[in-house]
Amino acid sequence: MFKLDEAKLQAVLKQLHQAIYNHERWHNDLIRTIICQQPHDHHDMAKDAHRRCRFGQWYYNDVPTEVRDHQAFLAIRTEHKHMHQLATQLLATAATKAAIAPHDYDAFANALDRLRLEIQTLSREIEESLYNHDPLTGALNRIGMLTSLRALHELVKRQVQQCCIAIMDLDHFKVINDSYGHAVGDKVLSASVRYLMDHLRPYDKVFRYGGEEFLISLPSTDLKAGHTMIERIREELGKPPLAFHGSKPIPLTVSFGLAMLDPEVNVEETIRRADKALYAAKSAGRNCSRKWDAVNSTPLA
Ligand code: GH3
Ligand code: MG
Ligand code: MG
Repeated sequence: MFKLDEAKLQAVLKQLHQAIYNHERWHNDLIRTIICQQPHDHHDMAKDAHRRCRFGQWYYNDVPTEVRDHQAFLAIRTEHKHMHQLATQLLATAATKAAIAPHDYDAFANALDRLRLEIQTLSREIEESLYNHDPLTGALNRIGMLTSLRALHELVKRQVQQCCIAIMDLDHFKVINDSYGHAVGDKVLSASVRYLMDHLRPYDKVFRYGGEEFLISLPSTDLKAGHTMIERIREELGKPPLAFHGSKPIPLTVSFGLAMLDPEVNVEETIRRADKALYAAKSAGRNCSRKWDAVNSTPLA
């Protein structure tokens, strides 16, 4: 999941498409140089040729940290550098007017294939991220929520891991909209989800479940650990304030309901349990969390 807002991620995708175009042009020029026995570009013979090509200039200089740290981005580095090393060898042989050995050409072509697969994977992941995210908050949208939870449920059924889910609902959010306007409400909503996402682990997921309700999946987490994590977030969320009206901070609290994915019941039932726990948190006065006790079928503090 890329922790970038939609506009920035769109910009990265556009730059990536440009970088791919530049890479293809570089490749065309390379093949032309070799086949037509033209003088090579001296940048391609340098030790750091992978940093000098236009794709490399983008890759090493112009990418925001949120994408730079992503696995699909990191995977390109080795393949790209290796491909350039093999291209340098081809150019060195071509410069002597000797024939390039098929083995050397195949090694280059295979490296090129692997590089392009990695680049396309990154492009696909960014596109999927854009398609799957709610533009206001950056949370995942509901498309794919059940699929994702069912995949976790399969692991729970096979006793590979436990998985806790939580539903967050903003308290008296209607009052914020009514008092300060919808635009301020939007700001409070997106800032609270940003806080939530920034304080979860990389493999936790946040889905926009309803208007101001968010479902969080916490894999490899039992109810006690999930409750501790959620309580820490709940207590800190809103201090410092998420938004201001003039110089006046707009207060916000949130409530949570938690439940465990249960091998005995389907995902929808677990969501209902978390919802009931959330309802109990609201009834208890809000600004708190409740967890579903599956043994006694009741919400617990
Ligand atoms: P409670 O503590 O019981 O949850 O009270 P509440 O006021 O938060 O709950 P209620 O369900 O009555 O109101 C939810 C409000 O959230 C109403 C709706 O207009 C608002 N809302 C939903 N989605 C958005 C959004 O995208 N932006 C803004 N600004 N408001 C939204
Ligand atoms: Mg609410
Ligand atoms: Mg609600």
